[in-house]
Amino acid sequence: MYEHDILIIGAGLAGLRAAVEGVRNGMNVGVISKVHPVRSHSNAAQGGINAPLTDRGDDWEDHAYDTIKGSDFLADQDAVEIMSREAGESVIELERMGVIFSRGDDGKLGTRRFGGQKIARTFFVGAITGSAILHVLFEQSIKYGLNVYEEWFVTKLLIEEGKCCGVIALDIKTGELYVIRAKSVIIAAGGAGRVFEPSTNAIICTGDGLALAWQAGAAVMDMEMIQYHPTTLAGTGILMSEAARGEGAYLLNSDGDRFMEKYAPEYMELASRDVVSRSEQTEINEGRGIDGNVLLDLRHLGRKYIESRLGYLQEVGVEFMGIDLAEQPIPIRPGMHYIMGGIKTDVNGATSVDGLYAAGECANVSVHGANRLGANSLLDTVVFGRRAADHATNYVKNIKHVNLDASYLENEKKRLQSIIDRKNGERPAIVRNEMANSMTLGIGVFRNQKTMEKAINDISGIRDRVKNISIDRKGAVFNTDLIFALELEFMTDVAWSIVHSAISRKESRGAHFRTDITTRDDKNWLKHILVSKDNESKNGVKVETLPVNITKWEPVERQY
Ligand SMILES: Cc1cc2nc3c(=O)[nH]c(=O)nc-3n(C[C@H](O)[C@H](O)[C@H](O)COP(=O)(O)OP(=O)(O)OC[C@H]3O[C@@H](n4cnc5c(N)ncnc54)[C@H](O)[C@@H]3O)c2cc1C
Repeated sequence: MYEHDILIIGAGLAGLRAAVEGVRNGMNVGVISKVHPVRSHSNAAQGGINAPLTDRGDDWEDHAYDTIKGSDFLADQDAVEIMSREAGESVIELERMGVIFSRGDDGKLGTRRFGGQKIARTFFVGAITGSAILHVLFEQSIKYGLNVYEEWFVTKLLIEEGKCCGVIALDIKTGELYVIRAKSVIIAAGGAGRVFEPSTNAIICTGDGLALAWQAGAAVMDMEMIQYHPTTLAGTGILMSEAARGEGAYLLNSDGDRFMEKYAPEYMELASRDVVSRSEQTEINEGRGIDGNVLLDLRHLGRKYIESRLGYLQEVGVEFMGIDLAEQPIPIRPGMHYIMGGIKTDVNGATSVDGLYAAGECANVSVHGANRLGANSLLDTVVFGRRAADHATNYVKNIKHVNLDASYLENEKKRLQSIIDRKNGERPAIVRNEMANSMTLGIGVFRNQKTMEKAINDISGIRDRVKNISIDRKGAVFNTDLIFALELEFMTDVAWSIVHSAISRKESRGAHFRTDITTRDDKNWLKHILVSKDNESKNGVKVETLPVNITKWEPVERQY
């Protein structure tokens, strides 16, 4: 029998930061990850992490305001205040743990300017910021002797008497299924990029954590807010980091014009991501694109600068397109990058289910609202990962382990075996591709009633088809076919929550831009949309709204 005070699902930045805190608090902590921890998607973050440091003449209120404006005033301002106030301390703490941040000529930590922000406050490690932080947190977890279930896959949360009391998980190496008891569970299972296609996200970003919470009855919030990153590589969807524009790259249309002049004269290429993505898509739709793309131009920065500051992008350009960025602009287009929505939590990571916490990309503390600023996600993971562990520590003090009936495990074994035994069904990959294409068409950079209704219809059909998929591999050891099938089930739940949130919002705000209702409507829609599973209703979904928490920044028109 495995058991822990705090069990954390996910070993990305949110999960590992929470784990380090939990162990420091004297808790018995377990971390479970479907891949080796340093293969988590946090590893792919290139650009950096934001922090307003006062000794740089920066101010937490300026960062908070940029974040709130970036969110199109949908972020809860109390949560943003906490993130901005705790940012400096969190980044310095990472440095002290061993993250070797890049430094400027003056020897001080170097910064670059990211989109939607007035000043340069993004700290970075070359083009490997996420990887550098993740490796340091992993080292810390080894130092603390952390218990890691590596290459284990969580299939179900266990809820008894309204409390979360553990999980069922599959040891991928052996195919054995186990109950892991826990006094509290923190979901830090990352994003859901692969619900869409193309996406900058790793193939493992399938929204499992969101679906686990959904199935357990927890509410998810702002799920319609899908971030399309403005610069993903033509053809593959590989991210060309915002650092490129942060360092001064231009965006050009087929006439060679810097078209951002028309859309965001003050911020130009460094306007918020939703604004830049829409501008690009408008250029493409109006015939000023090149094969469905526009161009990212770094030539004026010079070879030396590109290679020293943006070496990784140069590598991607050469390896994937045969393009030398010092010689030629590179074709890019908007691609799905991040989900602002997530499991609704308070500022301490608590969800609507007792004992269940969430942190990182799968959570919605509500700091990103309708559009996330670049380099604010890494910050979110460390600030709220730590807070979730602290709060879970207090919670478990008065909690005893629950005795779990053996039928939980037996039923889950039967369910998985029935997928393995199913014959002559469709392959998961085919259904998955259709789902992802439908989502991008329906809930894209631009959307309207018709596209969203079609997406609901499509996903409804997909949900029926998923019940009949079958897999070729029947063995127990490393059955990745089975994992893909389980991930597809999770993804369809996430897709279902997204389409129902999206169709409910009757305005345009941030990433949710409707071509049939093009304006923001604060009178009726300055509120969050919460959706949760409802077995009583016809479509299985309950939709509710919640007011936005405004502390001191009254909503105004958003201009860049
Ligand atoms: C290409 C790219 C570049 C980015 N660049 C930046 C940047 O420069 N700055 C910035 O702020 N943000 C950036 N982001 C966003 C940011 O990296 C992520 O939002 C953040 O790292 C997510 O961290 P996380 O800890 O929440 O999840 P992840 O790092 O995705 O970790 C999720 C964990 O959950 C585990 N898991 C998931 N499902 C299961 C399951 N069923 N069972 C067991 N384990 C499970 C996984 O194994 C993994 O360990 C970028 C994102 C991408 C895709």
